[in-house]
Amino acid sequence: TTYLDNNATTPCFDQVISCVANSTRAFYANPSSMHKAGQRSRAELERCRSVMRNLVKASNYGIVFTSGATESNNLAIRSIITDYITASGKLNATVITTPMEHPSVYETLKSLPAVRVHMLSVSPIGLLDLDELNDALKDETVAMVCVTMANSEIGTIQDVASIAQACRAAYVHCHLDMTQVFGRYNVSLNQLRADTVTMSAHKFHGPKGVGALFYTLTRPPPTPCTTGGKQEQGLRGGTENVPGVAGMALALQLCADGLARDGAAERMTRLLQGIKVGIQGIVPDVVFRGGVPDVDGYHGLYQTVSVVLPARASQLAAELSNLNVFVGVGGCACSKGQHSMTLEAIGASQEEMWRTMRISLGFMNTDRDVGRFLKCMRVAMARIEHVETHRLE
Ligand code: PMP
Repeated sequence: TTYLDNNATTPCFDQVISCVANSTRAFYANPSSMHKAGQRSRAELERCRSVMRNLVKASNYGIVFTSGATESNNLAIRSIITDYITASGKLNATVITTPMEHPSVYETLKSLPAVRVHMLSVSPIGLLDLDELNDALKDETVAMVCVTMANSEIGTIQDVASIAQACRAAYVHCHLDMTQVFGRYNVSLNQLRADTVTMSAHKFHGPKGVGALFYTLTRPPPTPCTTGGKQEQGLRGGTENVPGVAGMALALQLCADGLARDGAAERMTRLLQGIKVGIQGIVPDVVFRGGVPDVDGYHGLYQTVSVVLPARASQLAAELSNLNVFVGVGGCACSKGQHSMTLEAIGASQEEMWRTMRISLGFMNTDRDVGRFLKCMRVAMARIEHVETHRLE
């Protein structure tokens, strides 16, 4: 098979699979138990926390282990809004955000009756405007800013250093969803200085159902928004997922090693370039979004490209799937490919959304995948054209 849907999720590294299995066996005891077995599980959990803190240079941050990015975004938003309402005595809170967010951000905001959403506009490549943000920050009812650093559909990377700085200057909480960033870039949270940051292990070849919320130690810790035990600094009750956390820490370490030693980012950039050039040879007048880092000041994920085709993307993806080649379509997995707020925000029509296919690479992709993809793309396009011709007749 050729798996090119790594922004939806990534396959687990083999070493991570073994690590999770071994950890399940070795650290079966409850980290809250007082006996020696429990203490061993506790020590393993804290070892992983420290590995992760070092890897993303987050000595100034606390870490809450969660079930993934959806829970981390929920925890950050719900707790910051609750704190703001309590502390300010106001009835409402404004949240500044973008139309480029994952549903776990905008559905959470929509579900909170006290929240008024200030939606920023974005440019045709999905970048928010810092002047517009600074203007919006002048409003006295702003409780927080929620921005996704790297968009999963078209790969736009926001200038988060400037965004975090603007928030600090306005004394407003800055929440960043960096789900599509960890593992793919070297990150220094200490340097970035956002207040809360979301991570999910399955986006960097770690296990599913485990993630983290980083929170700055320079402010009071977030208020828990679920009730239960006192685990995770009292922020997230429930027996900890020690094997999952161990797998996440190892996956992050392996990605860092891959970036530093094996030139993984350069390799994926080169593979993506090969795919784009190949598609241009098969489909005339194709339009690409993303996948062009550093052009005109645009900085996008180096392993993501969104392709506007002269055919229905779901049909093409189905043909490709029959050939065991897996890609994303339209708004991709999170919206079941139906509608995309991101594509709408950058000015795509509904029809263009239907014609949009996403290719996203991971650490496991090779030259062979590029060759197979292009071969199958040629077959799939020919089949679609054949069907279309018959329909017209
Ligand atoms: N935020 C972003 C930017 C994402 O890409 C995703 C996954 N598509 C999520 C949040 C949700 O992640 P999870 O499935 O781990 O909850």
